[in-house]
Amino acid sequence: RQWRDIRLAGLGLIGRSFAMLFAAAGYQVKIYDIEASQITHALSDIWQQLIELQKIGLLRGSLSIEEQHKRIEGTNDITECAKGAFFVIECVPERIELKTGVHAKIDPVVSDTTIIASSASALIPSKISQNLKHRNRFIVVHPTNPPFYAPLVELVPSPWADSDVVPKTKALVEEIGQSPVVLKKEKEGFVLNRIQYSIIKECFNLVKDDIISVEDVDKVMSEGLGRRYAFIGQMETDYLNADGMRDHSKKFAEMSYRLQKSFKPPIKMEGEILDKIHKDIEKRIPLDKLQERRRWRDKRLAALEKMIRTM
Ligand code: NAD
Repeated sequence: RQWRDIRLAGLGLIGRSFAMLFAAAGYQVKIYDIEASQITHALSDIWQQLIELQKIGLLRGSLSIEEQHKRIEGTNDITECAKGAFFVIECVPERIELKTGVHAKIDPVVSDTTIIASSASALIPSKISQNLKHRNRFIVVHPTNPPFYAPLVELVPSPWADSDVVPKTKALVEEIGQSPVVLKKEKEGFVLNRIQYSIIKECFNLVKDDIISVEDVDKVMSEGLGRRYAFIGQMETDYLNADGMRDHSKKFAEMSYRLQKSFKPPIKMEGEILDKIHKDIEKRIPLDKLQERRRWRDKRLAALEKMIRTM
């Protein structure tokens, strides 16, 4: 273990998941939220989630649920939360002024070796950290939701990050059982969302041009591409679909280039096409059945995760 404990600010969906992952790995976790009631809510929600994980056989680590829960401790004082920290992670909403406001309180009380992380989804590190005294200790640690079933974490260091920030954060993320990837440079949208939005663009355009129905374009992902993507990425897919990359290029490079050239420009997710897509999905999943459908999804994600973990 690199450090004794972890400090965490912002106890929504992501903050709670991180607190649980750190506690499962045996860390003491000190948590803070601007809403005092969020601490009580988070602790009782975490307890329920631990019971559920135990029930489905996906509890992490070797500690009992009581021991894991006891490792998470709340405070109403951000200074107390950050003081003496080795690693502090901010998980407040994706608004620059909220994030920089929290960092401004953390910055003066941490040491020159503390790592200051943010779970930001899209805000780039240089923008968030430019005014920090300790900006050389800043890194974005972007998880995938839900983190217990989708272990990918994107690590995006600030351009001015010291050379130990990435390896230390990477080791921590691996230690808690998540799967880190490192961006060598910051890039808007990082990598997961850049790939995701290129898929969104194509799906929207194919439906807009009336090539395929909404239900079927989703099926292309869930029954086709997604089945492979649960185990291997696009690079390895191509490698295996021919006899290596050079052979793949001989067979498919021309087609790939022709298709890429036929792609349409960016499309705004609004207006008539948005309405059509919404209405189509709503026929299958009415808005009052969203919770039910999310539980259905999470149950399957849990089963897949369990299968992959025991493979
Ligand atoms: P959320 O809205 O569920 O929770 C945010 C929490 O921060 C709330 O408990 C709120 O009370 C607290 N908060 C607000 N202002 C605060 C302050 N000044 N000090 C301390 N606490 C404060 O948000 P979330 O979905 O957990 O997202 C948190 C971050 O993680 C965002 O940057 C988001 O983009 C990113 N993220 C979210 C997801 C996702 O799918 N939800 C996935 C990856 C990353």
